[in-house]
Amino acid sequence: MISVDQALVKVLENVAVLEAEEAPILSCLGQVLAEDVFSAINIPPLDNSAMDGYAVRAADTRGASPDSPCVLRVIDTVAAGAVSRSEVVLGTAVRIMTGAPIPDGADSVVRFEDTDETERQGTPAEIGVLIEVAPGAEIRRAGEDIAAGALVLKQGTRLRASEIGVLASLGCGKVKVVRRPVVAILSTGDEIADIAQPLSQSKIYNSNSYSLAALVKHYGAVPRMLGIALDNEDSLMDKLEAGRDADMVITSGGVSLGDYDVVREVLEKEGRTVFWRVREKPGKPLVFGLLKGRSKADVAKNIPFFGLAGNPVSSMVNFELFARPAILKMMGRKHLTKPTVRAVVEDAIENIDGRRVFTRVFVEKRGDGYFARLTGPQGSGILTSMALANGLAIVPEDEPGVKPGDVVDVMMLDWSEEVE
Ligand code: AMP
Ligand code: MG
Repeated sequence: MISVDQALVKVLENVAVLEAEEAPILSCLGQVLAEDVFSAINIPPLDNSAMDGYAVRAADTRGASPDSPCVLRVIDTVAAGAVSRSEVVLGTAVRIMTGAPIPDGADSVVRFEDTDETERQGTPAEIGVLIEVAPGAEIRRAGEDIAAGALVLKQGTRLRASEIGVLASLGCGKVKVVRRPVVAILSTGDEIADIAQPLSQSKIYNSNSYSLAALVKHYGAVPRMLGIALDNEDSLMDKLEAGRDADMVITSGGVSLGDYDVVREVLEKEGRTVFWRVREKPGKPLVFGLLKGRSKADVAKNIPFFGLAGNPVSSMVNFELFARPAILKMMGRKHLTKPTVRAVVEDAIENIDGRRVFTRVFVEKRGDGYFARLTGPQGSGILTSMALANGLAIVPEDEPGVKPGDVVDVMMLDWSEEVE
Protein backbone atom coordinates (compact mmCIF):
# COMPACT_ATOMS: atom_id res chain seq x y z
CA MET A 1 0.00 0.00 0.00
CA ILE A 2 1.49 3.36 -0.93
CA SER A 3 1.85 6.31 1.43
CA VAL A 4 -0.08 9.57 1.21
CA ASP A 5 3.06 11.35 0.01
CA GLN A 6 3.83 8.76 -2.69
CA ALA A 7 0.22 8.83 -3.83
CA LEU A 8 0.27 12.62 -4.21
CA VAL A 9 3.48 12.45 -6.26
CA LYS A 10 1.83 9.93 -8.61
CA VAL A 11 -1.31 12.04 -8.94
CA LEU A 12 0.65 15.18 -9.80
CA GLU A 13 2.83 13.27 -12.28
CA ASN A 14 -0.31 12.38 -14.16
CA VAL A 15 -1.92 15.80 -14.49
CA ALA A 16 -0.80 18.70 -16.65
CA VAL A 17 -1.51 22.41 -16.79
CA LEU A 18 -4.47 23.08 -19.10
CA GLU A 19 -4.35 25.37 -22.12
CA ALA A 20 -5.08 29.10 -22.07
CA GLU A 21 -8.27 30.84 -23.11
CA GLU A 22 -9.26 34.47 -23.43
CA ALA A 23 -12.00 35.52 -21.05
CA PRO A 24 -13.70 38.66 -19.66
CA ILE A 25 -11.83 39.76 -16.56
CA LEU A 26 -14.66 39.33 -14.08
CA SER A 27 -15.02 35.65 -14.98
CA CYS A 28 -11.31 35.11 -14.22
CA LEU A 29 -11.36 35.45 -10.43
CA GLY A 30 -8.94 32.82 -9.05
CA GLN A 31 -7.56 31.90 -12.46
CA VAL A 32 -3.90 32.17 -13.43
CA LEU A 33 -2.68 34.64 -16.07
CA ALA A 34 -1.33 32.94 -19.18
CA GLU A 35 0.35 36.09 -20.55
CA ASP A 36 2.39 39.05 -19.33
CA VAL A 37 0.25 42.18 -19.16
CA PHE A 38 1.85 45.52 -20.06
CA SER A 39 0.29 48.93 -19.67
CA ALA A 40 -0.44 50.98 -22.77
CA ILE A 41 -1.15 54.04 -20.63
CA ASN A 42 0.12 56.09 -17.72
CA ILE A 43 -1.83 55.69 -14.50
CA PRO A 44 -2.82 58.24 -13.48
CA PRO A 45 -2.85 59.64 -17.03
CA LEU A 46 -2.17 63.28 -15.96
CA ASP A 47 -0.75 65.09 -12.94
CA ASN A 48 -3.80 65.57 -10.72
CA SER A 49 -4.83 66.80 -7.33
CA ALA A 50 -4.69 64.44 -4.35
CA MET A 51 -6.99 66.73 -2.32
CA ASP A 52 -9.81 69.23 -2.60
CA GLY A 53 -8.16 72.67 -2.43
CA TYR A 54 -6.43 75.33 -4.49
CA ALA A 55 -3.84 74.80 -7.21
CA VAL A 56 -1.16 77.44 -6.69
CA ARG A 57 2.44 78.31 -7.36
CA ALA A 58 4.38 77.27 -4.25
CA ALA A 59 6.51 80.41 -4.46
CA ASP A 60 3.40 82.50 -3.69
CA THR A 61 2.93 80.77 -0.34
CA ARG A 62 6.39 81.51 1.04
CA GLY A 63 6.03 82.85 4.57
CA ALA A 64 2.24 82.35 4.67
CA SER A 65 0.74 81.61 8.11
CA PRO A 66 -2.65 81.96 9.84
CA ASP A 67 -1.50 85.38 11.10
CA SER A 68 -0.27 86.54 7.72
CA PRO A 69 -2.11 84.69 4.96
CA CYS A 70 -1.05 85.09 1.37
CA VAL A 71 -4.06 86.28 -0.60
CA LEU A 72 -4.48 84.96 -4.16
CA ARG A 73 -7.02 85.79 -6.89
CA VAL A 74 -9.24 82.77 -7.74
CA ILE A 75 -9.38 82.53 -11.54
CA ASP A 76 -11.27 79.25 -12.12
CA THR A 77 -12.79 76.13 -10.53
CA VAL A 78 -12.00 72.66 -11.90
CA ALA A 79 -13.82 69.44 -11.04
CA ALA A 80 -12.60 65.87 -11.53
CA GLY A 81 -13.23 64.93 -15.16
CA ALA A 82 -12.82 68.54 -16.36
CA VAL A 83 -9.75 70.48 -17.54
CA SER A 84 -9.08 74.10 -16.58
CA ARG A 85 -8.07 76.33 -19.46
CA SER A 86 -6.73 78.98 -17.09
CA GLU A 87 -3.04 79.28 -16.41
CA VAL A 88 -1.99 79.82 -12.81
CA VAL A 89 0.43 82.75 -12.75
CA LEU A 90 1.95 84.38 -9.66
CA GLY A 91 -0.76 85.83 -7.45
CA THR A 92 -3.52 83.50 -8.71
CA ALA A 93 -5.08 80.15 -7.78
CA VAL A 94 -7.53 77.66 -9.31
CA ARG A 95 -10.04 76.03 -7.01
CA ILE A 96 -9.55 72.27 -7.64
CA MET A 97 -11.26 69.01 -6.66
CA THR A 98 -9.58 65.66 -5.92
CA GLY A 99 -8.63 63.88 -9.15
CA ALA A 100 -8.87 66.98 -11.38
CA PRO A 101 -5.84 67.65 -13.63
CA ILE A 102 -3.41 70.26 -12.33
CA PRO A 103 -3.83 73.45 -14.40
CA ASP A 104 -0.89 74.84 -16.36
CA GLY A 105 1.41 76.98 -14.25
CA ALA A 106 0.44 75.45 -10.89
CA ASP A 107 3.04 73.34 -9.08
CA SER A 108 1.25 72.46 -5.83
CA VAL A 109 -2.13 72.21 -4.13
CA VAL A 110 -3.17 73.82 -0.82
CA ARG A 111 -5.94 71.89 0.97
CA PHE A 112 -9.19 73.72 1.74
CA GLU A 113 -8.41 73.24 5.44
CA ASP A 114 -5.25 75.30 5.00
CA THR A 115 -7.10 78.29 3.53
CA ASP A 116 -9.62 80.79 4.94
CA GLU A 117 -12.34 79.59 2.54
CA THR A 118 -14.89 78.91 5.31
CA GLU A 119 -14.74 82.58 6.32
CA ARG A 120 -15.71 83.70 2.82
CA GLN A 121 -19.13 83.78 1.13
CA GLY A 122 -19.97 81.43 -1.79
CA THR A 123 -17.23 80.73 -4.31
CA PRO A 124 -14.68 83.33 -3.34
CA ALA A 125 -13.00 85.72 -5.77
CA GLU A 126 -9.99 85.73 -3.48
CA ILE A 127 -8.55 83.12 -1.12
CA GLY A 128 -6.19 83.42 1.83
CA VAL A 129 -3.57 80.64 2.06
CA LEU A 130 -2.60 79.94 5.68
CA ILE A 131 0.47 77.75 5.21
CA GLU A 132 3.60 77.53 3.14
CA VAL A 133 3.61 74.58 0.71
CA ALA A 134 6.49 72.97 -1.19
CA PRO A 135 6.43 72.43 -4.95
CA GLY A 136 4.69 69.11 -5.68
CA ALA A 137 2.53 69.21 -2.54
CA GLU A 138 -0.70 67.17 -2.87
CA ILE A 139 -0.01 66.38 -6.54
CA ARG A 140 -0.30 62.81 -7.86
CA ARG A 141 2.16 62.53 -10.75
CA ALA A 142 1.20 61.09 -14.14
CA GLY A 143 2.36 57.44 -14.26
CA GLU A 144 3.21 57.32 -10.53
CA ASP A 145 1.16 54.12 -10.09
CA ILE A 146 1.92 52.56 -13.48
CA ALA A 147 4.09 54.01 -16.26
CA ALA A 148 3.12 53.45 -19.90
CA GLY A 149 4.97 50.37 -21.23
CA ALA A 150 5.57 48.83 -17.80
CA LEU A 151 5.08 45.11 -17.11
CA VAL A 152 2.17 45.22 -14.67
CA LEU A 153 1.12 41.60 -14.09
CA LYS A 154 3.34 38.60 -14.84
CA GLN A 155 2.27 35.37 -16.46
CA GLY A 156 1.52 32.93 -13.64
CA THR A 157 -0.13 35.52 -11.40
CA ARG A 158 -3.31 34.35 -9.73
CA LEU A 159 -6.06 36.88 -10.32
CA ARG A 160 -7.63 38.16 -7.12
CA ALA A 161 -9.95 41.15 -6.76
CA SER A 162 -7.00 43.55 -6.72
CA GLU A 163 -5.46 42.17 -9.93
CA ILE A 164 -8.85 42.31 -11.64
CA GLY A 165 -9.09 45.96 -10.57
CA VAL A 166 -5.60 46.63 -11.94
CA LEU A 167 -6.59 45.06 -15.28
CA ALA A 168 -9.68 47.29 -15.43
CA SER A 169 -7.53 50.34 -14.62
CA LEU A 170 -5.45 49.51 -17.72
CA GLY A 171 -8.58 49.31 -19.85
CA CYS A 172 -8.13 45.53 -20.28
CA GLY A 173 -11.58 43.95 -20.60
CA LYS A 174 -10.26 40.48 -21.47
CA VAL A 175 -7.14 38.51 -20.59
CA LYS A 176 -5.59 35.14 -21.34
CA VAL A 177 -5.89 32.74 -18.42
CA VAL A 178 -5.37 29.02 -17.87
CA ARG A 179 -8.76 27.48 -18.40
CA ARG A 180 -10.82 26.00 -15.57
CA PRO A 181 -10.98 22.19 -15.57
CA VAL A 182 -14.36 20.53 -16.02
CA VAL A 183 -14.71 17.87 -13.33
CA ALA A 184 -17.30 15.14 -13.90
CA ILE A 185 -18.78 13.76 -10.68
CA LEU A 186 -20.53 10.40 -10.43
CA SER A 187 -21.90 8.72 -7.33
CA THR A 188 -22.28 4.94 -7.28
CA GLY A 189 -24.43 2.68 -5.15
CA ASP A 190 -27.76 0.85 -5.41
CA GLU A 191 -28.70 2.50 -2.12
CA ILE A 192 -28.11 6.08 -3.26
CA ALA A 193 -31.15 8.25 -4.01
CA ASP A 194 -31.32 11.62 -5.71
CA ILE A 195 -32.31 14.47 -3.39
CA ALA A 196 -35.26 15.30 -5.66
CA GLN A 197 -36.84 11.86 -4.98
CA PRO A 198 -38.82 10.73 -1.94
CA LEU A 199 -36.63 8.54 0.24
CA SER A 200 -37.70 4.90 0.35
CA GLN A 201 -36.59 2.44 3.00
CA SER A 202 -33.00 1.19 2.63
CA LYS A 203 -31.97 4.20 0.58
CA ILE A 204 -29.90 7.23 1.56
CA TYR A 205 -29.65 10.57 -0.14
CA ASN A 206 -26.74 11.31 -2.42
CA SER A 207 -24.68 13.77 -0.42
CA ASN A 208 -21.28 13.02 -1.99
CA SER A 209 -22.06 14.47 -5.40
CA TYR A 210 -22.98 17.74 -3.70
CA SER A 211 -20.09 18.02 -1.26
CA LEU A 212 -17.65 17.12 -4.05
CA ALA A 213 -19.20 19.50 -6.58
CA ALA A 214 -19.10 22.27 -3.98
CA LEU A 215 -15.39 21.57 -3.39
CA VAL A 216 -14.76 21.58 -7.14
CA LYS A 217 -16.42 25.00 -7.38
CA HIS A 218 -14.65 26.26 -4.28
CA TYR A 219 -11.26 25.55 -5.84
CA GLY A 220 -12.20 27.24 -9.11
CA ALA A 221 -13.08 24.32 -11.37
CA VAL A 222 -16.40 23.54 -13.04
CA PRO A 223 -18.42 20.57 -11.75
CA ARG A 224 -20.48 18.45 -14.12
CA MET A 225 -22.99 16.21 -12.37
CA LEU A 226 -23.23 12.74 -13.93
CA GLY A 227 -25.85 11.52 -11.46
CA ILE A 228 -25.94 8.14 -9.75
CA ALA A 229 -24.83 4.77 -11.17
CA LEU A 230 -26.03 1.43 -9.88
CA ASP A 231 -23.52 -1.11 -8.58
CA ASN A 232 -22.97 -2.89 -11.90
CA GLU A 233 -20.56 -2.37 -14.76
CA ASP A 234 -23.19 -1.56 -17.38
CA SER A 235 -24.77 1.20 -15.33
CA LEU A 236 -21.37 2.66 -14.45
CA MET A 237 -20.15 2.59 -18.07
CA ASP A 238 -23.37 4.15 -19.22
CA LYS A 239 -23.23 7.03 -16.72
CA LEU A 240 -19.52 7.63 -17.31
CA GLU A 241 -20.13 8.38 -20.99
CA ALA A 242 -21.15 11.96 -20.24
CA GLY A 243 -17.75 12.49 -18.58
CA ARG A 244 -15.58 11.23 -21.43
CA ASP A 245 -14.68 14.73 -22.58
CA ALA A 246 -14.16 16.12 -19.04
CA ASP A 247 -10.74 17.12 -17.67
CA MET A 248 -11.13 14.96 -14.56
CA VAL A 249 -13.58 12.30 -13.40
CA ILE A 250 -14.40 11.72 -9.74
CA THR A 251 -16.57 8.82 -8.60
CA SER A 252 -17.62 7.98 -5.08
CA GLY A 253 -18.32 4.51 -3.70
CA GLY A 254 -17.65 1.05 -5.05
CA VAL A 255 -13.87 0.87 -4.58
CA SER A 256 -13.65 -1.47 -1.60
CA LEU A 257 -13.62 -5.26 -1.59
CA GLY A 258 -17.39 -5.79 -1.49
CA ASP A 259 -19.24 -7.97 -3.97
CA TYR A 260 -20.64 -4.97 -5.79
CA ASP A 261 -17.56 -2.75 -5.87
CA VAL A 262 -17.15 -2.48 -9.64
CA VAL A 263 -15.39 0.85 -10.13
CA ARG A 264 -11.91 -0.65 -10.38
CA GLU A 265 -12.99 -3.24 -12.95
CA VAL A 266 -14.44 -0.50 -15.12
CA LEU A 267 -11.31 1.63 -14.78
CA GLU A 268 -9.14 -1.37 -15.78
CA LYS A 269 -11.28 -1.98 -18.86
CA GLU A 270 -11.64 1.64 -19.86
CA GLY A 271 -8.20 2.92 -18.88
CA ARG A 272 -5.63 1.94 -16.32
CA THR A 273 -5.04 2.02 -12.58
CA VAL A 274 -2.08 4.03 -11.31
CA PHE A 275 -2.59 3.06 -7.66
CA TRP A 276 -5.23 1.56 -5.41
CA ARG A 277 -5.30 1.90 -1.63
CA VAL A 278 -3.38 4.48 0.34
CA ARG A 279 -2.00 4.16 3.86
CA GLU A 280 -4.41 6.69 5.35
CA LYS A 281 -7.49 6.92 7.50
CA PRO A 282 -10.14 7.66 6.44
CA GLY A 283 -10.22 6.88 2.72
CA LYS A 284 -7.88 3.89 2.37
CA PRO A 285 -9.64 2.32 -0.67
CA LEU A 286 -8.91 5.31 -2.94
CA VAL A 287 -8.17 4.34 -6.54
CA PHE A 288 -6.46 6.68 -8.96
CA GLY A 289 -5.95 6.07 -12.65
CA LEU A 290 -6.38 7.34 -16.17
CA LEU A 291 -9.64 6.89 -18.03
CA LYS A 292 -9.72 6.84 -21.82
CA GLY A 293 -11.59 9.84 -23.10
CA ARG A 294 -11.82 12.20 -26.03
CA SER A 295 -11.32 15.95 -26.20
CA LYS A 296 -14.00 18.24 -27.65
CA ALA A 297 -12.02 18.15 -30.92
CA ASP A 298 -12.35 14.33 -30.76
CA VAL A 299 -8.70 13.66 -29.99
CA ALA A 300 -8.00 10.69 -27.67
CA LYS A 301 -6.83 11.70 -24.20
CA ASN A 302 -6.28 10.23 -20.74
CA ILE A 303 -8.50 11.69 -18.06
CA PRO A 304 -7.27 11.70 -14.45
CA PHE A 305 -9.73 9.48 -12.60
CA PHE A 306 -10.33 9.43 -8.84
CA GLY A 307 -12.42 6.59 -7.43
CA LEU A 308 -13.11 7.86 -3.93
CA ALA A 309 -14.47 5.70 -1.14
CA GLY A 310 -18.19 6.20 -0.63
CA ASN A 311 -18.16 7.24 2.98
CA PRO A 312 -18.98 10.95 2.99
CA VAL A 313 -16.00 11.97 5.14
CA SER A 314 -13.57 9.72 3.23
CA SER A 315 -14.57 11.21 -0.08
CA MET A 316 -14.18 14.79 1.14
CA VAL A 317 -10.84 14.13 2.85
CA ASN A 318 -9.44 12.40 -0.23
CA PHE A 319 -10.68 15.23 -2.40
CA GLU A 320 -8.74 17.71 -0.25
CA LEU A 321 -5.62 15.52 -0.20
CA PHE A 322 -5.46 14.49 -3.86
CA ALA A 323 -8.10 15.90 -6.21
CA ARG A 324 -7.68 19.48 -4.93
CA PRO A 325 -3.93 19.71 -5.67
CA ALA A 326 -4.51 18.04 -9.05
CA ILE A 327 -7.14 20.64 -9.95
CA LEU A 328 -4.91 23.49 -8.78
CA LYS A 329 -2.00 22.16 -10.85
CA MET A 330 -4.26 21.96 -13.92
CA MET A 331 -5.24 25.58 -13.32
CA GLY A 332 -1.60 26.65 -13.39
CA ARG A 333 -1.34 27.29 -9.66
CA LYS A 334 2.06 26.97 -7.98
CA HIS A 335 1.09 26.59 -4.31
CA LEU A 336 -0.63 23.25 -3.97
CA THR A 337 -0.36 22.58 -0.27
CA LYS A 338 -2.84 23.66 2.34
CA PRO A 339 -1.32 25.62 5.21
CA THR A 340 -0.79 23.73 8.46
CA VAL A 341 -0.58 25.06 11.99
CA ARG A 342 0.99 23.38 15.02
CA ALA A 343 -1.78 22.92 17.54
CA VAL A 344 -2.15 21.46 21.02
CA VAL A 345 -4.72 18.64 20.88
CA GLU A 346 -7.33 18.54 23.61
CA ASP A 347 -8.54 14.99 22.91
CA ALA A 348 -6.72 11.69 22.42
CA ILE A 349 -6.42 10.35 18.86
CA GLU A 350 -5.59 6.69 18.22
CA ASN A 351 -3.60 5.27 15.36
CA ILE A 352 -4.05 1.51 15.57
CA ASP A 353 -2.68 0.26 12.26
CA GLY A 354 0.13 2.53 11.09
CA ARG A 355 -1.82 4.67 8.65
CA ARG A 356 -1.69 8.47 8.45
CA VAL A 357 -4.75 9.58 10.36
CA PHE A 358 -6.72 12.72 9.47
CA THR A 359 -9.07 13.67 12.27
CA ARG A 360 -11.71 16.36 12.03
CA VAL A 361 -10.95 19.13 14.48
CA PHE A 362 -11.98 22.64 15.32
CA VAL A 363 -8.95 24.87 15.79
CA GLU A 364 -9.06 27.95 17.98
CA LYS A 365 -6.40 30.53 18.70
CA ARG A 366 -5.98 31.24 22.40
CA GLY A 367 -3.25 33.64 23.40
CA ASP A 368 -0.25 32.80 21.24
CA GLY A 369 -1.17 29.19 20.55
CA TYR A 370 -3.56 27.08 18.52
CA PHE A 371 -5.75 24.46 20.21
CA ALA A 372 -7.58 21.66 18.42
CA ARG A 373 -10.52 19.64 19.68
CA LEU A 374 -12.31 16.77 17.97
CA THR A 375 -15.64 17.57 16.38
CA GLY A 376 -17.45 14.63 17.98
CA PRO A 377 -17.55 11.00 16.81
CA GLN A 378 -15.09 10.40 13.99
CA GLY A 379 -16.77 7.63 11.96
CA SER A 380 -16.10 8.17 8.26
CA GLY A 381 -19.85 8.14 7.65
CA ILE A 382 -20.47 11.03 10.04
CA LEU A 383 -20.53 14.00 7.73
CA THR A 384 -21.41 16.46 10.48
CA SER A 385 -17.93 15.83 11.95
CA MET A 386 -16.68 17.51 8.77
CA ALA A 387 -19.26 20.27 8.88
CA LEU A 388 -18.14 21.25 12.39
CA ALA A 389 -14.43 21.13 11.50
CA ASN A 390 -12.09 23.81 10.22
CA GLY A 391 -9.08 21.55 10.03
CA LEU A 392 -7.73 18.00 9.83
CA ALA A 393 -5.36 16.99 12.62
CA ILE A 394 -2.64 14.71 11.27
CA VAL A 395 -1.22 11.77 13.18
CA PRO A 396 1.82 10.41 11.31
CA GLU A 397 1.97 6.77 10.17
CA ASP A 398 4.68 5.85 12.67
CA GLU A 399 2.97 7.27 15.77
CA PRO A 400 0.64 5.10 17.83
CA GLY A 401 -1.56 8.10 18.59
CA VAL A 402 -1.56 11.35 20.49
CA LYS A 403 -2.82 12.27 23.94
CA PRO A 404 -4.29 15.52 25.22
CA GLY A 405 -1.57 18.17 25.45
CA ASP A 406 0.52 16.76 22.58
CA VAL A 407 1.25 19.00 19.62
CA VAL A 408 0.20 17.98 16.09
CA ASP A 409 0.09 19.46 12.62
CA VAL A 410 -3.38 20.55 11.56
CA MET A 411 -4.14 21.07 7.90
CA MET A 412 -6.41 24.11 7.82
CA LEU A 413 -9.36 23.50 5.54
CA ASP A 414 -10.63 27.06 5.53
CA TRP A 415 -7.36 28.79 4.80
CA SER A 416 -6.22 29.56 1.29
CA GLU A 417 -3.24 27.82 -0.33
CA GLU A 418 -1.28 31.04 -0.39
CA VAL A 419 -0.75 31.20 3.37
CA GLU A 420 2.29 29.02 3.90
P1 AMP B 1 -18.94 2.23 -0.56
O1 AMP B 1 -17.59 2.90 -0.64
O2 AMP B 1 -19.64 2.15 -1.86
O3 AMP B 1 -18.82 0.90 0.12
O4 AMP B 1 -19.82 3.14 0.38
C1 AMP B 1 -19.48 3.32 1.73
C2 AMP B 1 -20.57 4.03 2.47
O5 AMP B 1 -20.76 5.33 1.95
C3 AMP B 1 -21.92 3.33 2.40
O6 AMP B 1 -22.50 3.35 3.68
C4 AMP B 1 -22.70 4.22 1.47
O7 AMP B 1 -24.05 4.16 1.73
C5 AMP B 1 -22.11 5.58 1.68
N1 AMP B 1 -22.22 6.34 0.43
C6 AMP B 1 -21.78 5.90 -0.77
N2 AMP B 1 -22.04 6.81 -1.73
C7 AMP B 1 -22.68 7.84 -1.12
C8 AMP B 1 -23.21 9.07 -1.59
N3 AMP B 1 -23.17 9.41 -2.88
N4 AMP B 1 -23.77 9.91 -0.69
C9 AMP B 1 -23.81 9.55 0.60
N5 AMP B 1 -23.33 8.42 1.11
C10 AMP B 1 -22.76 7.55 0.25
MG1 MG C 1 -21.27 1.22 -2.61
